[in-house]
Amino acid sequence: MSEFKGPAPTGASEIETLIHLLSRLPGLGPRSARRAALHLIKRRDSLMLPLTEALAIAAERIKPCATCNTLDTIDPCAICRDAERDTRAICVVEQVGDLWAIERTGAFKGRYHVLGGTLSALDGVGPDDLAIASLLSRVRAGGVDEVILALNATVDGQTTAHYLADRLADATVAVTRLAHGVPVGGELDYLDDGTLSAALAARRNVG
Ligand SMILES: [Zn+2]
Repeated sequence: MSEFKGPAPTGASEIETLIHLLSRLPGLGPRSARRAALHLIKRRDSLMLPLTEALAIAAERIKPCATCNTLDTIDPCAICRDAERDTRAICVVEQVGDLWAIERTGAFKGRYHVLGGTLSALDGVGPDDLAIASLLSRVRAGGVDEVILALNATVDGQTTAHYLADRLADATVAVTRLAHGVPVGGELDYLDDGTLSAALAARRNVG
């Protein structure tokens, strides 16, 4: 019971199968999967059964939005349907989790486009593996003034941002990216060299 990496061993008990499946969730190793399984078993009515129901509903109903590729139970998704949102700005993110992070800030009221990852020569991810063609056709359809490239400040994220900026160069839209710099509440002495030099390069006039 110490190794859960492979498929569930045949003949494993139901509890072992449960632990095995939980251990495949991100952030849960075998030890925390055992704790989670016991926690679920102890809270059968208040947690395990509602979770089972929520998982069944999610598995059946959640699918990518045909327009922006985010996940929702309706298509177009709630964000694409929201008439209060600014249709002229599209914020491009790598993953749905990034969209959720921006939504939590409440700072952006436009629409999104979820790429589903980043270009990566190492992992063999090319433009056709991501929702890039659908982004380009959304922009070319018109009615968009700005495309915000909210990609991670990683090598692959920035490679993808450059690729998209190139592909969008002939479209009549402003292509912007998130600022790189000193985090709110950050102390200079604790920043890594890359963050500090990016912040210095992106300095602005005061006032
Ligand atoms: Zn959508």
